[in-house]
Amino acid sequence: TSPETSDALRVLHRVFGFSSFRGEQQEIIEQVVGGGDALVLMPTGGGKSLCYQIPALVRDGTGVVISPLIALMQDQVNALTALGVRAGFLNSTQDPYERQAVERSFLDGELDLLYLAPERLRTESAQRLLDRGTVSVFAIDEAHCVAQWGHDFRPDYLSLSMLHERWPKVPRIALTATATEATHAEIVTRLGLEDARHFVASFDRPNIQYRIVPKNNPTKQLLDLIRTEHPGDAGVVYCLSRASVEKTAAFLVEQGIDAVAYHAGMDARARAANQARFLREDGVVVVATIAFGMGIDKPDVRFVAHLDLPKSVEGYYQETGRAGRDGEPATAWLAYGLQDVVQQRKLIDGSEGDDAHRRSLGMHLDAMLALCETVTCRRVRLLAYFGQSGEPCGNCDTCLTPAESWDGTVAAQKLLST
Ligand code: ADP
Ligand code: MG
Ligand code: ZN
Repeated sequence: TSPETSDALRVLHRVFGFSSFRGEQQEIIEQVVGGGDALVLMPTGGGKSLCYQIPALVRDGTGVVISPLIALMQDQVNALTALGVRAGFLNSTQDPYERQAVERSFLDGELDLLYLAPERLRTESAQRLLDRGTVSVFAIDEAHCVAQWGHDFRPDYLSLSMLHERWPKVPRIALTATATEATHAEIVTRLGLEDARHFVASFDRPNIQYRIVPKNNPTKQLLDLIRTEHPGDAGVVYCLSRASVEKTAAFLVEQGIDAVAYHAGMDARARAANQARFLREDGVVVVATIAFGMGIDKPDVRFVAHLDLPKSVEGYYQETGRAGRDGEPATAWLAYGLQDVVQQRKLIDGSEGDDAHRRSLGMHLDAMLALCETVTCRRVRLLAYFGQSGEPCGNCDTCLTPAESWDGTVAAQKLLST
C-alpha cells in the first residue's frame, strides 16, 4: 500500500471509527490526496463526505468545503468537532465576532475543514482570506447546483469556475448524487473539471421497494400505507404545495400519527424545530415540500411517499433515496394521478424562461411519466435513466404484480383535450 493509503486508512479508523472504505472511497481519496481533481457521482447515502474530509485531514492546510446547505453547516461542524476534527464555517448566519474567530483559526492553521457558503466565496474578502492561509483541497458538495436547468440551480455556483484560475495548485473534488449525462457534462464544463478523474458509483438501491399506485384519495391511501406497513416508522411525505403539506400533516396528526410539517413558507424557527424532531426522535413522519431533505442524513427512514408527481426522475430518485440509508428494507411509494400530469403541464406552459427551458422541463416530466407508466421493472427503468444497467429486481410493484399495459398516454390526452 502507498503512504497515501495508509494515512487515509489510519484517519478512517482513528477519527471516524470505520473499519473499511466503501465502494470507491479509497480510490477517490488517493486521487485527491495525490493532488488530482475528481468528479464523484455517488447516490445519496453513499458516503461522499469522507471523500473530501479524509484528504483534508491527510494533506497540509485546510480543506474548504463549498456547500449550499447553510442550515446544515452547523450540524456538520458539530458532528466533526465531536470526532475531534477542527472544523468551522463561514456563512451569513454569523455575527462579525464569530466570523472573525473562524477566520483567525483558519489563518493560524488551526482548522482541518472550513465550510463556506458559495455566496461568501464570491466576496473579495473571502478570497483574500483564502490567499493568506493554506487550502489543502476544495470540495464542491452538491455540485449539480451548478447545472442551470437542474432543479437545484444556484447562481452562486457559477462563480466556482474561478477556483482553478485563482488557486491552480489546489486539488478540487466535486460531488453530487445527480448523475444524468447532461448534468454530468454541465458540471465538467462549468467548473472546468476537464482533467478530473471521474468516479461513478452504482445508483442501485436494492433495499428500496419502488411502488407507484393510481391516485384516488391520496391522504387516505397514505394513512393505509402507514397503518398497515409502517406503523411507528420514520418517513418523509412529499407534497407539491405548501397548502397540501399543512393539510396532510394536520390530517395525519388527527389520525394519531406523529407527523410534522416542513416547507419554505413556515416560520424559520418552527421549521428548524420540526426538522430537529424528525432527525432526533424515533418514528416521526415529516410532511414536506421538496425544500426538505438535501443533505439530510437520517439512516432509518423506512418510507418516502409522494402524494404528487415529482417533476423529474432526478428529483424522484433523490427524494426516494432518503429512504433506507441504513440498508434495511424501505418503501418508496408514489400516488400517480393524471390530474397531476395536467397540472404539471400547465405549470410548465406558464413558467418563466425561454422555450428551450420549457422544452427541457417537458422532457424531464415525460421521463417521469415513462417511469410511472412502465410495465417493466421500475428499478431497471430508474437505473437506465442514469445510464446504468440492471436485472429485474423482483421487489418493485411491477416485478411483483405484472400489470397489463396501462394506457396512461391515451387517458392523459383525453383529459388534456377536455
Ligand atoms: P452522502 O453525502 O453521499 O449522501 P454521507 O457522506 O453523508 O453520504 O454518508 C452517509 C452515511 O454513511 C454516514 O452516516 C456516514 O457516516 C456513513 N459512512 C460513510 N462512509 C462509511 C464507511 N466507509 N464505513 C461506514 N460508514 C460509512
Ligand atoms: Mg452529502
Ligand atoms: Zn423490479
